Amino acid sequence: MSTGNDQGVMEFDLVVIGGGSGGLAAAFRAAGHGARVAMLEPNALGGTCVNVGCVPKKAMWLAAHVAENIALASRLGFDVGAPRLDWCEFITHRQRYIHNIHESYRKRLDAAGIVAMPTRGRLLDANTVETSDGVRLQAPHIVIATGGHPWRPDVPGAGLGLVSDDFFHFDAAPGRVGIVGGGYIAVELAGVLQSLGCCVELFVRGPRLLGGFDRELAERLQHNYHQAGVALHFDHALQSLHDAGAGKRQIVDGVGERSQPLDAVIFATGRRPNTVELGLASAGVDTDRQGHVLVDAFQNTSTGGIYAIGDVTDRIALTPVAIAAARRLMDRLFAGKADAKLDYDNIPTVVFSHPPMATVGLSEEDARERHGDEVHVYRADFRAMVHALADVPQRSLFKLVCVGSERRVVGIHLLGEAADEIMQGFAVALKKGIVLDDLADTVAIHPTSAEEVVLMR
Ligand SMILES: Cc1cc2nc3c(=O)[nH]c(=O)nc-3n(C[C@H](O)[C@H](O)[C@H](O)COP(=O)(O)OP(=O)(O)OC[C@H]3O[C@@H](n4cnc5c(N)ncnc54)[C@H](O)[C@@H]3O)c2cc1C
Repeated sequence: MSTGNDQGVMEFDLVVIGGGSGGLAAAFRAAGHGARVAMLEPNALGGTCVNVGCVPKKAMWLAAHVAENIALASRLGFDVGAPRLDWCEFITHRQRYIHNIHESYRKRLDAAGIVAMPTRGRLLDANTVETSDGVRLQAPHIVIATGGHPWRPDVPGAGLGLVSDDFFHFDAAPGRVGIVGGGYIAVELAGVLQSLGCCVELFVRGPRLLGGFDRELAERLQHNYHQAGVALHFDHALQSLHDAGAGKRQIVDGVGERSQPLDAVIFATGRRPNTVELGLASAGVDTDRQGHVLVDAFQNTSTGGIYAIGDVTDRIALTPVAIAAARRLMDRLFAGKADAKLDYDNIPTVVFSHPPMATVGLSEEDARERHGDEVHVYRADFRAMVHALADVPQRSLFKLVCVGSERRVVGIHLLGEAADEIMQGFAVALKKGIVLDDLADTVAIHPTSAEEVVLMR
């Protein structure tokens, strides 16, 4: 428990600002090491991931996946009609699941003796945080874990558009949706909405989807989306949003051309860190131009005793990354592990597209840039058994990117059924530095899609 000093200031070993993925992980790990911890969170526990990110997104992806399987079942001879989702009922299940996560966090916070305060925090100096109701907390260690928020482009009519947070308030499928963006959130929302019966149009600034991911897989996914009926507009210069009356919106491009009237426009145009009104300047904490807190490899900010983790920094914005960074930091501060820090290389990730895409390590393009002619690429281009049985055209594409005469595996990229579940184990192998022969020495599990990874030569 905390102790109050003579000035009525509450004292802790650690104050965590933000109770999302990173903040909760920091608080739990530090308390586990015996630290007295306060955690400030004005909104729902779990932050973006639990409330407007990974969890509700995956729930919607699962609904879409079920819809796709019903359609496949029908092709395979099952007597099922066209899939139609009662969104309200599904959302009740989704929110019950999320409510249970909140409850579980509350119980764990109590059990760990963490003082959880439902309020915002602001830094007063290097050791002091003030809550919105004026309570002052002091600690030798302060963690900033305030995450980020969706960002809208600064164009006329931007206020007519929605962002990903709003998607989670839909209680019915809009008829026709325009999504602006080509990153993973845009791709995921497009896939879910199209599979659940909407007509989706994607407006992408660049020439392709998922810049930064392996190009060949991204192109295969584009092909799949096109086949599924998603309209793709590349090299699109967004100029403004227009109110077309009767609740419809139109997207206007660089030459003034208007899109079809849309029932909703969603901006998936990036996120910005939550660093305004956080008192960073008073505490001497430096940020980059977008407001991300600058940290070194140990999550130290420019001010001693203040650290930052997760989306508020400019590192990879994923829940397990925020959690892993938080745990290592707490091990360093409270468990004497002086060298503990997160290795940000080879972090696996999944795009919950339709089908899902999983990736770890270097894309072919990045590998060629780094290793030139030393790069060797292996491919498996196949139809998953269920798609072959139902005779649907969708094809999977798996790729191994290897380097050198020993064929060290530096990238694994999977697009296809169950890619999301297949990747985790192979990510361990890549991190351990396997070569192609190690995969070949592993007996395949047959008949699966996963076996393609060990059969590629
Ligand atoms: C649509 C979407 C889908 C995603 N899907 C995935 C996925 O599938 N897999 C994955 O790994 N990642 C996914 N992410 C990313 C993931 O949600 C984030 O990387 C993760 O939540 C970051 O954790 P964090 O602790 O840094 O921030 P957050 O989880 O955002 O938590 C920050 C918390 O700080 C609080 N806060 C802000 N300011 C203050 C203040 N002044 N005082 C006190 N508290 C404050 C906020 O209320 C918030 O609860 C997704 C994100 C989005 C938007």
